[in-house]
Amino acid sequence: MTEPLTTGATIGILGGGQLGRMLSVAASRLGLRTHIYEPGANPPAGDVAHRVTTAGYDDAAALAAFAASVDVVTYEFENIPTTALDLIEQSRVIRPGRQALATSQDRLTEKTFLQGLGLHTAPYAAVDTAADLDAALAQIGHPAILKTRTMGYDGKGQARIMSPDEAAAALAAMTGAPSLLEGFVDFSHEVSVIGARGADGAVACFDPGENVHRDGILHTTTVPARLSPAQRTDAVLIAARILNALDYVGVIGVELFVTPGGLIVNEIAPRVHNSGHWTQNGCLIDQFEQHIRAVAGWPLGDATRHSNVVMENLIGGDMGRVPDLARTNTALHLYGKAEVKAGRKMGHINRITGPAT
Ligand code: AMP
Repeated sequence: MTEPLTTGATIGILGGGQLGRMLSVAASRLGLRTHIYEPGANPPAGDVAHRVTTAGYDDAAALAAFAASVDVVTYEFENIPTTALDLIEQSRVIRPGRQALATSQDRLTEKTFLQGLGLHTAPYAAVDTAADLDAALAQIGHPAILKTRTMGYDGKGQARIMSPDEAAAALAAMTGAPSLLEGFVDFSHEVSVIGARGADGAVACFDPGENVHRDGILHTTTVPARLSPAQRTDAVLIAARILNALDYVGVIGVELFVTPGGLIVNEIAPRVHNSGHWTQNGCLIDQFEQHIRAVAGWPLGDATRHSNVVMENLIGGDMGRVPDLARTNTALHLYGKAEVKAGRKMGHINRITGPAT
């Protein structure tokens, strides 16, 4: 795919959650269509997409038909089985590309890649066995965090090791999955950069946001983040470096720990990111449109921030606050999920706290 997509063209999106939903809305505003591929019934993105395929990632016929019906393919989550990607790639370009997916799907590959770029990460060591964990703890020390190498999100698949006698329980919590021990980073706060790279290689990064988690799930993102001008530049340069190295096309989320010694990269997400939702009301072009523009081969939009914003996630029972929130001067973004479940992301709000400072 070399020519920019034109009106009526279709972007295939793997995954039909809220990110796919907001990507579909952005695509429709640009005169483009989306086709959602999602194994689960009634995906949130289905309400606003042109087409939905309900099929598993092991369904070769459904994947082939999906690929044939779209002009380019993107995704809203990174844990897509390799076999499905191989099949799609026989006929369609996937943006962002396979290198970005392979790098972010495995925490060991990701850390090795980041260090290879000269960026700072937590000290780490691969752990498959109890003997590996003993050796890793001897090398890295404690406190430390054991994480599964793949399929982790929102703090799942993680166990903290505060002292060596907690090692056995942490390893058991990985249930045999290949893992990674990370030294505990003593950070003052967490920030993320949402960056974009176009098919032409242009890069545009949004201002870093400051993230606060609750129970392992993102609670708020605040812009501006508490960063010095030099730290802000560093954060954006780190994201740009990663985008170029991966020959990336699309939006990426780069999570960073702020420490007195500098910025440490926690992880990268090769997609639009929860900590970038503030851009919907803080910028003229938000992360969703930016991603669609990149995937469609269009020029990137201006990522300048016009307002200070606090984004707050509405999780599970927070939905009960919606009637009151609707009476306030707050931008509501609800995902249309019928079933309220504890810990489930149901929507988010963006509150403008003033002009950009
Ligand atoms: P992750 O799934 O890797 O993003 O981790 C979820 C959260 O756990 C992060 O946002 C941090 O708050 C915390 N965390 C993860 N890794 C580390 C680390 N090496 N040191 C300190 N805190 C961490």
